[in-house]
Formats: sequence, C-alpha cells, structure tokens
Amino acid sequence: MGECWGEGTATFMILGNTCTRSCGFCNVKTGRPDEVDWKEPIKVAKSIQIMGIKHAVITSVDRDDLKDNGSILWRETIITIRRLNPGTTLETLIPDFKGDETSLDRIIDVEPEVISHNLETVRRLTKEVRIQAKYDRSLSVLKYLKDKGVKRTKSGIMLGLGEQREEVIESLEDLREVGVDVLTIGQYLQPSKKHLSVKSFIEPRVFDDYKKIGEDLGFRHVESGPLVRSSYKAQKHIT
Ligand code: SF4
Repeated sequence: MGECWGEGTATFMILGNTCTRSCGFCNVKTGRPDEVDWKEPIKVAKSIQIMGIKHAVITSVDRDDLKDNGSILWRETIITIRRLNPGTTLETLIPDFKGDETSLDRIIDVEPEVISHNLETVRRLTKEVRIQAKYDRSLSVLKYLKDKGVKRTKSGIMLGLGEQREEVIESLEDLREVGVDVLTIGQYLQPSKKHLSVKSFIEPRVFDDYKKIGEDLGFRHVESGPLVRSSYKAQKHIT
C-alpha cells in the first residue's frame, strides 16, 4: 500500500492494487478490482502516524467500475489522514474520475495542499499510451480544479515515447493554459517487455531546455530530468 522515500515523505496507493484501465506504460495490474475496503482510510492514516510522515502523496488505481469513481473513499482517506495527522501535508495524485465534477468536488472540498493529475504524454500519443483516457478530458479536469480555487495543481509528462519537441512544447502550453502550477517531466522506462518500448533516451540538456521553457511559460515549479517522477521532491511543491 505504501512506499517511503525517507525525509518524512511517502506515497500510498489506495482503492486496491487492480486497475480498471490498462495504460501501456504502467506496471499496475489490470482487471476486476477488489471490493472497496472501507477500513483503508484508517489504515493509511495510522501508517502515516506510525511512520511519522510529514508529507504524503496519495494516489489510486482508476475505479471506473464504481458509480462514484472511488471518490468517496478518496475523500474519507483525506479526512482521516488529517484527523490523525494534523501536521502532515498532502498531495493527492488523482485519476480523471471520467471528468465527473461531483467526484472532483469531493477532493476539492477537503482541501489537500496539492491536487495532481498527470497528462502523461503529448496529444498524439495519448490513445496509444493511456487507451481509456483522453488528452482533453485531463486538461478539463485540471482546469476545473483551478476554476474551483485549488491553490496548487500539478501535472506531469514522460518523455521517450516517440514525442516530438514541438508536441512537448504544445503540452506544456496546454498545461499552463489551464493554470497548472507545478510540472514534472521525466524519462519513460519500460517496466517489462509487455509494456510500451522506450523510443529514445532523452539527454539531460534537453530536459534542462524543457525546464527553461516551462519556467518561461510561468509554471511555479518545474522538475525536469531523466530520473524525475511525478512525486519527485513533492514536499517542495507546497510552498
Ligand atoms: S489508470 Fe493509473 S493505475 Fe491504472 S493503468 Fe493507468 S496509470 Fe496505471
């Protein structure tokens, strides 16, 4: 359920370990998910307490099988973490909830410090890389968060999947257009031979170039480098 990276920071994945989607880059199992475990919020909150976590990143599998898209358990988890750990800051890396505003409102209303939703790749490759997702729906989710007053929104993309420079820049522009504050750009690595292959390994100077472009576009924080993942230095992004 959880992964600790030291420095008082850890990531927790909720709503089970089986996803209803099958993104070509992702190592999470696809299939029929388990029943929702309503004790999961207290289990996560207690783990955070015992481990003394100062900043937690919460994420989940996609639960397209549930009417609420898993958003009620999401909300309960945030509330329970807050109750047991009032000093812990939270980043919630959420699914698109199929763009359902009621589901998104359940997260927005409990005010995590950062709400993230990853674009993952450029427009042209979205169908191949995350087959059940839509590029514009992800942008709409990020716009909705900002329009509803979320202070810190965050998104990330991976490079090395066959994207062109101008497509990356278009994605950066699209993300800034919908008000995203924090951007992460990292190198895609193939988890197994069954997953999408790596088309190219991007040089560090190219990552530096995208960082500069992102900063010029007005992102508050840009983390860009081969080893950057969406939770990279996550605690920095709440300031
Ligand atoms: S929706 Fe998320 S957890 Fe599910 S396969 Fe895609 S990236 Fe993995």
